[in-house]
Amino acid sequence: MAEDLLRVEGLKKHYPARGRRGLFGARGRAVRAVDGVSFAVAPGEVLAVVGESGCGKSTLGRLVLRLLDPSAGAISFDGADITRLGGEELRRIRLLMQIVFQDPFGSLNPRMTAGEAIAYPLKVHGLLDGGREGKVAELLERVGLSAMHARRLPHELSGGQRQRVGIARAISVGPKLIVLDEPVAALDLSAQAHVLNLFKDLQRDMGMAYLFITHDLSVAEYMADRILVMYAGKVVELGERRRLFESPRHPYTEALLSAAVLGSWGGTVRETILEGDPPSPIDPPPGCRFHPRCPYAERVCRSEEPRLERLDAGQLAACHLRTGRMEPPPEEGRRTGPR
Ligand code: SF4
Repeated sequence: MAEDLLRVEGLKKHYPARGRRGLFGARGRAVRAVDGVSFAVAPGEVLAVVGESGCGKSTLGRLVLRLLDPSAGAISFDGADITRLGGEELRRIRLLMQIVFQDPFGSLNPRMTAGEAIAYPLKVHGLLDGGREGKVAELLERVGLSAMHARRLPHELSGGQRQRVGIARAISVGPKLIVLDEPVAALDLSAQAHVLNLFKDLQRDMGMAYLFITHDLSVAEYMADRILVMYAGKVVELGERRRLFESPRHPYTEALLSAAVLGSWGGTVRETILEGDPPSPIDPPPGCRFHPRCPYAERVCRSEEPRLERLDAGQLAACHLRTGRMEPPPEEGRRTGPR
């Protein structure tokens, strides 16, 4: 088996909570945006990170790229420990790790033409040895645009075209990993389909790995080899895509799947209605963080935090139901709220 390209161990990002003492009592406490996350990505693999808004998935993407400094834990990339790397060493490793953001308009400088935006990372890393125009034209064509788009400013391009410029900029330096942070969420449905197919084609041709952050399970279903499910800053399930879709082991994954409309997936899942909101990252519930919303919650769930444990077929889940601490749930019937 190939060595991992990316390995993350016990990664945390805590921010000091803002708030006046005595009002909500937040001062002195921490916002636990990412709270002890571990996983690995193999070369050329697509790992989707899914979960509701605010679960910590975008923060995780920025930590992996060292756009944020972790509070604890370790990150290794391409065989090197990059957790505390800085300066020139970090700049060198960043060549191999790129990001495509959700908002293509916000991620492009409004005063830079598409050609200048694409050439910028090549210039910064001293990779523009030949003619800039030829290289930019080649990259534009690679992402389904043409050389004439090089002269356009962001506001002269459609949303899909702007995202393609962002993709051309990301692939220009030959990365081994791209973090895709909700890269099609701001696009209309037809542009989404074209951009997803472009990601697939590029990955097949260039062999890079993706950390694909999305709230949309149908996107994860289409793109991913494996799926990591996050809830309130933690990993609650991780497994091979088809197994996870056919046999989710965590009630939160089950609830996400039962709410989703999926394309090619023909499986069935126990109907679980997700009620309430995710907990505050400042003051998550004790025990299992999902227990206030879980239809299977028992006393043990309120007091003991379940560990992420390996189950059959390499699937991992953090749930007392799956590790023998609780009776299995009834196979029939629908349960809609916590007990
Ligand atoms: Fe539900 Fe308990 Fe499992 Fe948490 S540990 S997901 S509350 S059954």
